[in-house]
Amino acid sequence: MSGNKELSNLYKLQDPTKQYPRPKFKHQPQGVPGLDRKMQPLADHGETSYKGSGRLPNRKALVTGGDSGIGRAAAIAFAREGADVAINYLPSEEGDAQEVIALIEKEGRKAIAIPGDISSEAFCKQMVKRAHKALGGLDILACVAGKQHAVEKIADVTTQQLEQTYRVNVFALFWTVKAALPLMPPGGSIITTASIQATHPSPSLLDYAPTKAAILAFTRALARQVAEDGIRVNCVAPGPVWTPLQTSGGQPDKKIPAFGSETPMKRPGQPVEMSPLYVLLASQESSYVTGEVYGATGGLEVG
Ligand code: NAD
Ligand code: MG
Repeated sequence: MSGNKELSNLYKLQDPTKQYPRPKFKHQPQGVPGLDRKMQPLADHGETSYKGSGRLPNRKALVTGGDSGIGRAAAIAFAREGADVAINYLPSEEGDAQEVIALIEKEGRKAIAIPGDISSEAFCKQMVKRAHKALGGLDILACVAGKQHAVEKIADVTTQQLEQTYRVNVFALFWTVKAALPLMPPGGSIITTASIQATHPSPSLLDYAPTKAAILAFTRALARQVAEDGIRVNCVAPGPVWTPLQTSGGQPDKKIPAFGSETPMKRPGQPVEMSPLYVLLASQESSYVTGEVYGATGGLEVG
């Protein structure tokens, strides 16, 4: 089990700057897609720390990128709050995914594994159909999957990378939402995942950062389109978070030791620190919230 069991009690009053590991970190390059189990130190996705309190009773959630990082944290939290959860991931991430499946099942909830590549429109349609059928409904769609690969100079960004980054981050979101909306009942919630990069782009993320700006615009436009159908659409915009996306080339390897030190809190976020936002936005508690962007950036400010 790759969750870090040493990490803190989420609910105890404490100094957030010292709550989780701070730089320096080890160099730890790995291939794409990165695996959570190779992170040093292991990240906290709430495996032993997140406590549910019945905020998503019998809800039916599909989480893309649910095997690792922020998606894993959202999937675990959704299950602890009482939801049945389907997760999508790439076939090479089966090991990470099976850990999440086991954690969801441990809560007594239905856990559905849907491996496959969302850069294909046909697969996005199939994924939604399978989740809807296996869960017996679909009322939470958390689109968390993403591709990020840092390249210092525009001259070195290949057209293949440019296209794949847009396919995974933007086209897949469009296709998945298009397939899901007709299946979602009033009360349904769609949650997208942008980034601090949408508004504060890094020079080495010339393909990725604009996809995150596109996600913000898509979220706001869609929210207004479907509000009268009773579907809410909101966005989580994280700052630097300790996930395998970053150690598998999302950042240049030379930046990993100081990862998160640029934030006012001087540390990266942990995936579990994103979970409360996904839960709030999924839950009926946020019934008047739509078209919004919720940041969690250690103080960098999205906007
Ligand atoms: P992660 O590597 O744990 O998650 C990304 C997931 O995307 C992978 O697990 C993989 O399953 C999925 N994915 C990638 N390509 C895919 C494809 N072709 N088909 C199907 N699935 C695919 O890393 P993470 O940091 O938790 O990333 C989750 C989201 O958070 C991403 O959208 C990312 O852009 C966003 N984000 C991350 C950070 C950060 O610092 N980690 C900051 C801001 C935003
Ligand atoms: Mg993964």
